[in-house]
Amino acid sequence: MTNLILFGPPGSGKGTQAAKLIDKYNLVHISTGDLFRYEMGNNTPLGLQAKAFMAEGRLVPDEVTIGMLRNKVEAHPEAQGFIFDGFPRTIPQAEALDSLLAEMNTDIAGLIALEVDDEEIVVRVLNRGKSSGRPDDNDEAIIRKRITVYKQETTPVFDYYAEHGKSHSIPGVGSIHDIFERLCMTIDQL
Ligand code: ADP
Repeated sequence: MTNLILFGPPGSGKGTQAAKLIDKYNLVHISTGDLFRYEMGNNTPLGLQAKAFMAEGRLVPDEVTIGMLRNKVEAHPEAQGFIFDGFPRTIPQAEALDSLLAEMNTDIAGLIALEVDDEEIVVRVLNRGKSSGRPDDNDEAIIRKRITVYKQETTPVFDYYAEHGKSHSIPGVGSIHDIFERLCMTIDQL
């Protein structure tokens, strides 16, 4: 199995690149943000739990997120590997992911971070907000809050995998094609 973490701040292009990578490498894409939005759209108890946190740009509590992730992974026993997008976002989530993969006799092959600076992120996410219908994409204060949460709670996950020599980063600016090429080069060297 090849399991990858696509890492980076909100609006860094993880979802766009994941969609291309799953075709090339035959992986299953798991985006916790998409899963939460699906649950919210269906007004499930999980969706209702996540809603307020997402609207404020805060992280959904680890136990909720980890349980949902585990269910999704276990629903794909046929998978040749996973691309995790938007997960893990905290150290406890990274530890839970490592245990889950260890139970399956596999591990994370690598984490790849897309680097995009803060002002570019704000521009991109506000732009996405015009068509995404996501309330958290339409408010600059919420977007900046998400960037702060990313720096405080999520960047330690990069260091966590770096300790095992698994973290890599590439520039997340330029054309979608160029970023994809950079990602593939990095993946092919893992
Ligand atoms: P973006 O990366 O653009 O912020 P996502 O769709 O990945 O968008 O996430 C949107 C929101 O969903 C986050 O701000 C957070 O509230 C919630 N969320 C997504 N993934 C996680 C996670 N792993 N842990 C906690 N909350 C999460």
